[in-house]
Amino acid sequence: MSADITAGPLDLLLTGATVLTGETTGTIVEDAAIGIRDGRIVHLAPASKPFPSAKVTRALPGRLVTPGFINAHLHAVLVMVRGVAADLGFAPSYTPGIPKGTDATPEEARALARLGAVEALLSGSTLVCDHFVHADATLDAIAELGLRVHAGWRVHDVDFARVANGEWSFDAAIGDDLLRRTLDLHDRWHGANGGRIQVQMAAHAPDTCSPAFLRTIAGEAAARNMRVNTHLAQSRVEVERVKASTGLSPAELLDEVGLLNDRLLATHCLYVSDTDIARLAASGAHAVHVPKCNAASGRLAPTPALKAAGVNLALCTDTQHGDMVEAMRWALATARIQQGGVTADWQPADVFRMATLGGAKAVGMADDIGTLAVGKKADLVVFDTRRPHLRPLVNPLGTLVHTGQGRDVEMVLVDGETLVEDGRPVRADLDRICIEADQAARALWARARA
Ligand SMILES: [Zn+2]
Repeated sequence: MSADITAGPLDLLLTGATVLTGETTGTIVEDAAIGIRDGRIVHLAPASKPFPSAKVTRALPGRLVTPGFINAHLHAVLVMVRGVAADLGFAPSYTPGIPKGTDATPEEARALARLGAVEALLSGSTLVCDHFVHADATLDAIAELGLRVHAGWRVHDVDFARVANGEWSFDAAIGDDLLRRTLDLHDRWHGANGGRIQVQMAAHAPDTCSPAFLRTIAGEAAARNMRVNTHLAQSRVEVERVKASTGLSPAELLDEVGLLNDRLLATHCLYVSDTDIARLAASGAHAVHVPKCNAASGRLAPTPALKAAGVNLALCTDTQHGDMVEAMRWALATARIQQGGVTADWQPADVFRMATLGGAKAVGMADDIGTLAVGKKADLVVFDTRRPHLRPLVNPLGTLVHTGQGRDVEMVLVDGETLVEDGRPVRADLDRICIEADQAARALWARARA
């Protein structure tokens, strides 16, 4: 489609790249012209077709353009346990002797969050759902990089200080405080930065929130039409605890308290029965797949069954490094391991969709982002495919998923604004981010060991 010429020149014209639009499975535009005006795509067609004049033109031969990735569940601050957490066997929040988010000062949390977020951005994520403690300190530290951030406090009413010692007890004061902080965050930030900031209700998990607290969360989230991002069926311990206290599975409990609906992003979905999967599908809830974290800890989410049941699948990197290209590759492999081979319903296009449109649906923005099409926001990623591991480029999608890497990203645009240029963040000093995060992590580890 071509832009309305009478609307004036384009703000930016990208020419010569191959475009994976994501609009219809496998849609490719070779030697494309992408026109952007006022933050939206107003022209996308082969460059052989006429296109409007532009204030700025970028020739991008040898590049591959994709929609921005939506990293639907991330804890940017947890880069502090990089290289360690993956080998602990369970979430660091539960492990004595490991630095925790609550141990970080707000400044340390900001420094760590900047690193986790810039890594995601440099790897092509244009939107991250980021939740943890210190959300009031880290939200704007992430947002300053320019990407979309849908943030929230880690909300629970279990006393994590006691959980680390194996004792589970709920404290209404803890829940009330975290809920109030979430609603304050929503009041202050939801819709800020031209809509690039949203606030989610990050209910930690069905076993770390009491049923009564889950009901309160569901009511507040519904009243404000907030997305709820939770861990669901993340561990056998969670399933056993919920069963013992309520007689229900975690998915049944969420349904019971009013959280299982199309505003729910259910992350992990590891230990779900066929009945749970049918319930998820019927509710319109979204499953956020964490292939690398789960596989690294020896676990597989039943993504083939979830997909077959019709559950919308999104993708994330959680506490692992924020490379969504790698996450796509792991998602494909872990589905095929369960299927015992290569099948028609688990192809590169399927995991590409999870990383893009599936995520956009999960965060409720499929009309604006998730694919590249005229009328949508100009959130896009430019991969430099002039590299040995990306040649020959006979099948760009298959090559991207099987041999691409986040570090092949050359440019990232959000709302048509260039946030990454030559693989470096435009708005921030990358070297400084790395140094400050390293200092923060070393200080945290030193205190934890002491
Ligand atoms: Zn998580």
